This record gives sequence, C-alpha cells and structure tokens, in this order.
Amino acid sequence: MSERTASCLCGNLKVVARGEPFDVYLCGCRDCQRKSGSSFTYAALYAESAVTIAGERRTYRRNGDSGRFIETHFCPTCGVTVFFHAEGLPGLVGIAAGCFADPDFTKPSRLYWASRHHHWLDLPASIAREDTQ
Ligand SMILES: [Zn+2]
Ligand SMILES: [Zn+2]
Repeated sequence: MSERTASCLCGNLKVVARGEPFDVYLCGCRDCQRKSGSSFTYAALYAESAVTIAGERRTYRRNGDSGRFIETHFCPTCGVTVFFHAEGLPGLVGIAAGCFADPDFTKPSRLYWASRHHHWLDLPASIAREDTQ
C-alpha cells in the first residue's frame, strides 16, 4: 500500500497517509483564498483510520457558509496548515495536497465555488466546476 507524507514548511508537523485518497478537489471560496493566500485550496480527503499525525500544532475553528464548523490545524512555528477536519465530513481528514510536495499527486476531480474563483483561472475541462459546495 502506498504511503505519503505531508509536511509543513519547517518539518515539525507531519501527516502520513496510507493508500489512495477518498477524494481530491479544489475549492475557490473566499475563505480558501484567504487561507491559502492563493486562488484556491487543493485538498485530499482520507479516512481517519488511514492517517497518522505527528508534531506540535494549533487549531483554528470557524463556521463555514453552511453553518457547520471547519477546523484547520497548523504548525505554530512556520504557520502552514497541513490538515483539517470538517463537521460536514465525519470520519475524514482533509490534507492540504500541496504539503505532499509531490508533482505526481492525484489530480483534483472538481473545483468547488467556481463562481468565486479568480476570473483569469482557466482549468482543464476534465476538472468539473461547481458554483457552490
Ligand atoms: Zn512548521
Ligand atoms: Zn473553500
């Protein structure tokens, strides 16, 4: 079974994920733009049982547009968010796919909140667009 390690910039916070992700997607909502400092987040969902987390972390909890909570977990030293939990995704852990730093990582299936993404962003037609989430 394949095993991949997602890491923050300084290497303190690490998440080991076993097997293939349950889903991989992009989200271009405004919160994700702010969180990433970029156009969208790139996330991989794994079953809780397929993931091992190690390292010091802090948690930021907020309510999404749906009213349900999202908790992002980040390294207190370098500030990078490596993973998250969402009330709407019970039993799953979301990993910031860029933290794998693997150019061969699984392609996203869709972009959520396409209605809010940056106007210049031109994604391949094989990535579906959803106007909301
Ligand atoms: Zn760090
Ligand atoms: Zn989002």
